[in-house]
Amino acid sequence: MLAVYLIVGLFGALIGSFLNVCIYRLPRRESIAWPGSHCPSCSHAIAWYDNIPIISYLVLAGRCRQCQTRISWRYPAVELLNALGYVGLLWFFGPDWSTAVYGLLYSALLVVAGTDLSHKIIPNVVTFPGIVIGLVSAATVLPLGLLNGLIGLLVGGGILWLLAWASPYLFGKEGMGGGDIKLLAMIGAFLGWKPALMTIMVGSFLGSVVGVTLIAAHVIKREDYIPFGPFLVCGALVSLFFGQPLLDWYQGLLAG
Ligand SMILES: [Zn+2]
Repeated sequence: MLAVYLIVGLFGALIGSFLNVCIYRLPRRESIAWPGSHCPSCSHAIAWYDNIPIISYLVLAGRCRQCQTRISWRYPAVELLNALGYVGLLWFFGPDWSTAVYGLLYSALLVVAGTDLSHKIIPNVVTFPGIVIGLVSAATVLPLGLLNGLIGLLVGGGILWLLAWASPYLFGKEGMGGGDIKLLAMIGAFLGWKPALMTIMVGSFLGSVVGVTLIAAHVIKREDYIPFGPFLVCGALVSLFFGQPLLDWYQGLLAG
């Protein structure tokens, strides 16, 4: 079984390498298929042996072989996160088609978190196909079922749409963009309406804690925009991995 985890981890790191390409190119509206990987600084094509996930970064000590420009630590971080995510999903959900679907969702969430952090963009080319794949999966391989997936889409997207509409009145500033709405619609389509609600609650909680901390530490100002997408992604991951135990605990609280 250890060998299986190792293979899944390596596969996850390789996919993570592709996710890096998506995170870099999607906000710049560049093709993710062509040209091949090149250094963003000197444009030199990166040889396959310098493009091995995580390893190459360590071997090259985080610098381009040609121009010695620093390579962002985000590249190995995304590769590592995707590898760990796939291994974690297999550990939690076992070898099943639904696990593969959750892997797809996980990678999509990583891309969205990356582009929102770097460019404050949640690309439609991720969320629109994601919504469709989520619904198709809900209707076929996921335990969720199509109806719950549809309700998840509407509840998730709908609540954020309301929040986005109301936040200029409530908070005096734009709280959310259309990208966040589509992101939560996608999460709802994959996970259903209860985990979608949990995603909003966990995401808002994390966002408030981090926001208040950063303002208190004078890292950002009160009026600065903080992308909400990465917090929603964290909320979705909490819901994906711990949603059922959390719901049981919550319902136990209400019943007790
Ligand atoms: Zn270079």
